Amino acid sequence: EERNPGEIEFHQAAKHIFSALIPVFAKNPKYIKNGVLERISEPERFITFRVPWVDDNGNVQVNRGFRVQFNSSIGPYKGGTRFHPTVNASIIKFLGFEQIFKNALTGQPIGGGKGGADFNPKGKSNNEIMRFCQSYMTELANYIGPNVDIPAGDIGVGAREIGFMFGQYKRMRGTYEPGVLTGKDVRFGGSLVRPEATGYGLIYFVDDMMQDHGLHLKGSKVVVSGAGNVAIYAMEKAMELGAKVIACSDSTGYIYDEKGIHIETIKRLKLDEDGVISTYIDIHPHASFHQNGEEIWTVPCDIALPCATQNEIDADAARVLIKNGIKVVAEGANMPSNQEAIDLFNESHILFGPAKAANAGGVAVSALEMAQNSMKLSWPFEKVDAKLHEIMLNIYRNSVSAAEEYGHPGNLDVGANIAGFLKVGDAMIREGVV
Ligand code: NDP
Repeated sequence: EERNPGEIEFHQAAKHIFSALIPVFAKNPKYIKNGVLERISEPERFITFRVPWVDDNGNVQVNRGFRVQFNSSIGPYKGGTRFHPTVNASIIKFLGFEQIFKNALTGQPIGGGKGGADFNPKGKSNNEIMRFCQSYMTELANYIGPNVDIPAGDIGVGAREIGFMFGQYKRMRGTYEPGVLTGKDVRFGGSLVRPEATGYGLIYFVDDMMQDHGLHLKGSKVVVSGAGNVAIYAMEKAMELGAKVIACSDSTGYIYDEKGIHIETIKRLKLDEDGVISTYIDIHPHASFHQNGEEIWTVPCDIALPCATQNEIDADAARVLIKNGIKVVAEGANMPSNQEAIDLFNESHILFGPAKAANAGGVAVSALEMAQNSMKLSWPFEKVDAKLHEIMLNIYRNSVSAAEEYGHPGNLDVGANIAGFLKVGDAMIREGVV
């Protein structure tokens, strides 16, 4: 904390991971001896830069851009890009730190990174978004490349923004290098299943975890926070596998639909029209809209899937979920549950799928996109989807066995942290003190 004053989210993530690793250090002093702890918590490189752009009224605007290149011991830096007004150094570092372990868990050769800007895409015109993305990339291009660092999307960054950034990178470099970014449109090197991957992967993880405990997704009631990339495809796959999604939210509030959320309406409102979720009730008047988005966790359900942002579930929300008989909580967003909430879920033996395991499907398919780009080919939907499912199952199994081996059977949170760490920590020792 002394080294990184005020970085609240980064401290939260680092404390969480290090406390899970205590049994590893007790059993294997080599990690301490080789300074792995000190090295892994210091980014290899952290870039901040000015992003100047001109709005539609001719006014100059300035935002702050970030890219953290946290760890490259098992592959080039890889991680998303977030455009949201709350973005700061602490948020980027927490996300980048988590990414190291998540990426290792996928079994793919990718290191940990993350980036973004404190830019608010809400209410901006298409041209403003384009000019911003071009300016952001003009500086970022100095630090990335298909074998160096490969950014992708996150909150506020989807295929449109990736397209604008890719166009600018291509123009600056004068060569066609699709492997520099993932989450691209399929017409220029994007992978099928990438838009769906985090949400679908989350549901594959939940399904595998439930089956392992004799429970079934089919017939379960599900509540999902958010209505963005992760939330939408999580809802879609959950419904496809027979679950009923009864509530979802955006930053303006949540909707409750006891008949089951109509996913095509949500897709149209949020993906095509960039609208607000409250208009759902104009089309489905039997549903209800509630302005206080945090209260979505008071809706009784079997499965809760936080898919919006960090720290959405605190101890109070966790207690309500537990009182209402929740069976499964799985994190689509990064760090949506705080430590107290996770402790409560564990004490109550709720099946808990931690973010770095449960939402790793997105980055896993990003790694498959990189593989396809370097081979200059594209795999069919079914092939990528099957690989995604296999990767999610492996992540689940590896987290279960690491938890067991280190004395916390059934605790997937501890298990995922340990399994991810061991791979990176061992690579760091073998590569020497760098
Ligand atoms: P999107 O921007 O597509 O969607 C985010 C959704 O969450 C929107 O519905 C948004 O509401 C809502 N939201 C965002 N911030 C807040 C907030 N502070 N309070 C309430 N609601 C909020 O982002 P993604 O779906 O891509 O990302 C969601 C989460 O999943 C993030 O934590 C991200 O890091 C994580 N994640 C994403 C991956 C990916 O592949 N995209 C991969 C792994 C993790 P509104 O529509 O009103 O803005």
